[in-house]
Amino acid sequence: MKRAVVCGAGGFIAGHLVKRLKGEGYWVRGVDCKHPEFSESEADEFLLLDLREPRDCETALSLNGGPPAEVYQLAADMGGMGYIHTAECEIMHNSALINIHMTQAAVRAAVSRYFFASSVCVYRDMKPGEPELTEEDAYPALPDNEYGWEKLYAERTTMAFGRRHGIAVRIGRFQNCYGPGGAWTGGREKAPAALCRKVAEAYDGGAIEVWGDGSAVRSYTYVDDIVDGIRLLMQSDLEGPCNIGSPEYVTVDELAATVARAAGKHVRLVHVEGPVGVRSRNFSIRRMASIGWHAQWNLERGIAKTYAWVEAQVNKRRGEQTP
Ligand code: NAD
Repeated sequence: MKRAVVCGAGGFIAGHLVKRLKGEGYWVRGVDCKHPEFSESEADEFLLLDLREPRDCETALSLNGGPPAEVYQLAADMGGMGYIHTAECEIMHNSALINIHMTQAAVRAAVSRYFFASSVCVYRDMKPGEPELTEEDAYPALPDNEYGWEKLYAERTTMAFGRRHGIAVRIGRFQNCYGPGGAWTGGREKAPAALCRKVAEAYDGGAIEVWGDGSAVRSYTYVDDIVDGIRLLMQSDLEGPCNIGSPEYVTVDELAATVARAAGKHVRLVHVEGPVGVRSRNFSIRRMASIGWHAQWNLERGIAKTYAWVEAQVNKRRGEQTP
């Protein structure tokens, strides 16, 4: 039986990845500094460890009977735009330590295949309508925020360790990922979950606040598609970072309208000041397409599924708050 270690397994994407690996017949060790919030982990074994600590990284990767066949490094100090803009020191410090110590531990444990979760935040800001950027266009580097700079540094650290120590490194640069099981409140939530929550809390005919003027262009990728991409990439020979994201680009206002349709509500958008991030995105996904990856979920279908889940969380919280 193949054995995998999934770091960040108490979180959103890695939680879904654990489920996928279990479905494919792997033995899985999940590692995180917290348990999953919304459901029990499906991992065979779940270790609570602080991956900023070198010792904990070594514990994460040490298994009886030899190294894990695959390591998936998705642990990060992470959040939506609100978090990225207010916690830049924490992000630079915590995520850099995790990645430095995890790569070192992978060498010590003689790991042969290592996946690192990067982000399209490594790219510069773009103007709406600009031609798509390829993976090479991350250089000369000008990420819009410190989260992106840390990802770029961690990509390079991981690749350098891979080159020197013969580890097959695979790197996915994820677009905004959404779906059931992600942060939906508390400050770390990203735009799709935040808008689902606001719409779920609003009454039909009411209003919700949207950060910025609503014109920023993004694509949003359903979590199952991201997990498909991680698995395909890990099994492939593709070296170097690969963009993984839906080619369906929409404005923030269009995203909000999609959420309102999923809810069956009419809501008015009130634009307020808030951190927005880059004005536009447009990336080539040719590298991932070359190994057969294509997004299977369009925004309408993915948001419908996500809205239903967030609405259930909102209703559950309401129930808990009602005496
Ligand atoms: P998440 O916050 O749900 O998961 C990250 C997990 O890392 C959390 O459970 C957290 O507890 C854990 N973690 C943080 N510090 C740790 C530490 N010191 N020790 C052990 N565990 C620690 O985030 P996610 O959305 O599932 O993202 C997973 C990965 O994908 C991250 O690396 C993130 O940067 C990357 N990514 C996510 C998106 C997205 O839209 N969600 C987009 C691009 C890249």
